[in-house]
Amino acid sequence: MTSAVLALDIGGTKLAAGLVAPDGRVRSFLVAPTPVGVRLVLEALFALGRRAATQGGVDLPDVDAVGIACGGPLDAARGVLLCPPHLPGWRDVPVARLAEEAFGVPAVLDNDGTAAAAAEHRFGAGVGTRQMVYLTLSTGVGGGVVVDGRVYRGATGNGAELGHVVVDWRGRSCRGCGGRGCLEAYVSGTSIAERARESLEPASTLAAVGSFTAADVAAHAAAGDGFAGRVWRRTTEALGTGLTSIVNMLEPELVVLGGGVTRAGEALIGPARQAVRMAAMTPGGRAVRIERAALGDRVGVVGAAAVALRSPVGKGLA
Ligand SMILES: [Zn+2]
Repeated sequence: MTSAVLALDIGGTKLAAGLVAPDGRVRSFLVAPTPVGVRLVLEALFALGRRAATQGGVDLPDVDAVGIACGGPLDAARGVLLCPPHLPGWRDVPVARLAEEAFGVPAVLDNDGTAAAAAEHRFGAGVGTRQMVYLTLSTGVGGGVVVDGRVYRGATGNGAELGHVVVDWRGRSCRGCGGRGCLEAYVSGTSIAERARESLEPASTLAAVGSFTAADVAAHAAAGDGFAGRVWRRTTEALGTGLTSIVNMLEPELVVLGGGVTRAGEALIGPARQAVRMAAMTPGGRAVRIERAALGDRVGVVGAAAVALRSPVGKGLA
């Protein structure tokens, strides 16, 4: 019998599935667009999972466990998705039980930020650290925290929502939580493009781009466009402010930044790192390393596998 975990990642725009070995090696990796509606999503997800198992060379009954990562809020202990804002119409869906019925294997559900933190800590940029923070800057902003070498979950598995650290209490409204001035409202890919659109200056080179994204804002800022540069500066200032609070609160050795927005590289991370050095308290602010994630677009499935391996359904493989 081969030892492997089937890992599933439910995103608002795409689904991913992979067969992952206990050492974190990804033996198969498949992605598909997320359809609309609970039934269609689960059908597509489970079909993708079956193909991932086959491509990974394992018959489903020989998979040790199924790990599922998804944005919250969720009830990790019961394996139920409560009402995730990125999946409209979903309410109290018992995803873990449905996966167990579909695959005939024990399944575990966890928050995608927590799962990604577990993945980077165990197999990625955070290997060897004891105190680590993970932040993903994507469509939204998610996070995870490792304390004393273990993933911190909060009372019900919904802790470490670092995207909703407030950086301006009178600031922009936040789509993710309904609050105001959250980090997510400034540094998610969606928010960066939205802020640029709201105040677009006709002289900006961005004005010639039809429907631009955060990546366009970063590229035009790097190319010297003044307007894009100001939007980008506000992005790095917000990130630096949020990270300063997080570093002051937790004194991590390492902050790992992942997600599509981090493709901007040092243009994003450099100024944020500088802000933390200047503003966070000593000695934590001086000592903390701030680095890019190592696992790229596979972090979701490696994370889903990492939480399954650590849970009782992982049969002690971790
Ligand atoms: Zn929020």
